[in-house]
Amino acid sequence: MYDCIVVGAGPAGLSASLFLARYRRRALTFHHNSPRNEYAHGIHGFLGHDGISPAELLARGRDEVTAHGGLIVESCVTGIERITNEHFRVYTGSGTPDSRTFDARRILLATGLRDVTPDCPGFRDFYGFSVHHCPDCDGYECIDKRIAVLGSGTKTVGFALRLLTWTNKITLITEDEASLTEDDRTKLAAFDIGVRARSIKALDGDLKSKELRRIFFNEGGALECDRLFFNLGNEPASNLHEMLGCKLDEECGLVWVDRTQQTSVEGVYAAGDLTPNSQLAIVAGAEGAMAAIQIHDSLSPS
Ligand SMILES: Cc1cc2nc3c(=O)[nH]c(=O)nc-3n(C[C@H](O)[C@H](O)[C@H](O)COP(=O)(O)OP(=O)(O)OC[C@H]3O[C@@H](n4cnc5c(N)ncnc54)[C@H](O)[C@@H]3O)c2cc1C
Repeated sequence: MYDCIVVGAGPAGLSASLFLARYRRRALTFHHNSPRNEYAHGIHGFLGHDGISPAELLARGRDEVTAHGGLIVESCVTGIERITNEHFRVYTGSGTPDSRTFDARRILLATGLRDVTPDCPGFRDFYGFSVHHCPDCDGYECIDKRIAVLGSGTKTVGFALRLLTWTNKITLITEDEASLTEDDRTKLAAFDIGVRARSIKALDGDLKSKELRRIFFNEGGALECDRLFFNLGNEPASNLHEMLGCKLDEECGLVWVDRTQQTSVEGVYAAGDLTPNSQLAIVAGAEGAMAAIQIHDSLSPS
């Protein structure tokens, strides 16, 4: 019986695993090596490590966890169930003979999110370098650049307005022009943000430097630009929280947690992008550390 099984070894899961190891807890961490930011060229805004590559940050984190005696296993968790409030069972593998079960007194879900991305030729060539989804992460690198914003509706208008912090050369691309209200259009016009009611055919640019140069449209024509930000939504990377019956936050639909990072299911904690706070690596790491402290306390004599 482990004290805690951590599912996920991104910044949230690894940060929790490090603290659990420092508390000398018997913890086991699973990951299937597919963190959300695997395409990013660098993690911006992570104090002390600004611009560090995601792979390097995670490799360092894994080394720190194992140096403290923590266990990390690369295997997909395919099932999870609550036996009692003090006993959970985790299943890995897709069937015999690789399937195994593991038992723990606490669970930490740190499985992150998956982004809905544009499905067009060229996307993978530029994603993480000159195609982005997060103004907080990559806005600063876009000062005075010509930015195209892809999405629909009022939410995307707000997203485009946020980018005014760094540039005033913004064009909104939308396949669903009808989703823009009169109010949206007034706001866009006030900041000289043009609207192209088009669908993207392909992205084009310098493959060596990974700099985007233009966007081709299915309807014909192209838009010259330096950056593309998309706002197409995201979804949890796993459904383990559903298997456990964790309540979702009513506003954002992510996993609800209390101030101790505990979900609505006693003994099950969640941290990182899966929970409602800002989706940043440093926030995920901080939430993982907070969850570990609470898990340790909940297992300690009082
Ligand atoms: C392109 C891009 C660029 C970004 N740039 C920045 C930036 O510059 N600065 C910044 O602060 N943030 C940035 N972010 C956001 C940042 O990456 C996330 O906030 C952060 O990775 C969240 O950490 P996490 O641990 O919650 O989830 P993740 O990093 O997504 O990790 C999830 C973990 O769960 C594991 N997992 C999921 N399901 C299972 C399962 N069933 N079984 C086993 N393991 C499982 C995965 O293997 C992975 O280890 C960026 C994101 C993207 C997509």
